[in-house]
Amino acid sequence: MRPLLLAASLLLAGCDPGASPLPTDMPAHDPAATEVTVRLSDGKGGLTEPRRVPKVVRTDEQWRAQLGEERFRILRAKGTERPFCGTLLDNKKSGTYHCAGCDLPLFSSDAKFDSGTGWPSFFQPVAKENVAALLDRSHGMVRIEILCARCDGHLGHVFEDGPPPTGQRHCLNSESLEFRERK
Ligand SMILES: [Zn+2]
Repeated sequence: MRPLLLAASLLLAGCDPGASPLPTDMPAHDPAATEVTVRLSDGKGGLTEPRRVPKVVRTDEQWRAQLGEERFRILRAKGTERPFCGTLLDNKKSGTYHCAGCDLPLFSSDAKFDSGTGWPSFFQPVAKENVAALLDRSHGMVRIEILCARCDGHLGHVFEDGPPPTGQRHCLNSESLEFRERK
């Protein structure tokens, strides 16, 4: 019975070639949420336990004033910086990459790798709570967009062709990130 069920579910899954299930180890982006569970910096180079915090919400005018035009275009209008141009692509220092919008810790240098794509790439977030996933059907493609869980800032996309141990490739815009070196 079990192999039959498996075959049937594979067949069903194959019925929609546009389906691209969100990664099960990442929170799904919820645009209606006013609070979110994330891990914050503990002030000692680590992270707190997951805690419930308010979402960071600002108007476009406030974001534009805070971020400047280029960061606003990427973080708030889902833009993409040109490959091999980002300031953090070749950064090899140890530290944490924070959200340029709300300062939430997002990725660690320990998970950074050279993907050859021209964008900073990581095989996992610093905490699974802090990066949310959203199905993106723009530009005639089906991709998984990644966003800062606390301010909904656009970070980039995640793909399933990354290295071990996760097999994920989180493809980031440098402009979405603020690097803080570990002393
Ligand atoms: Zn953020």
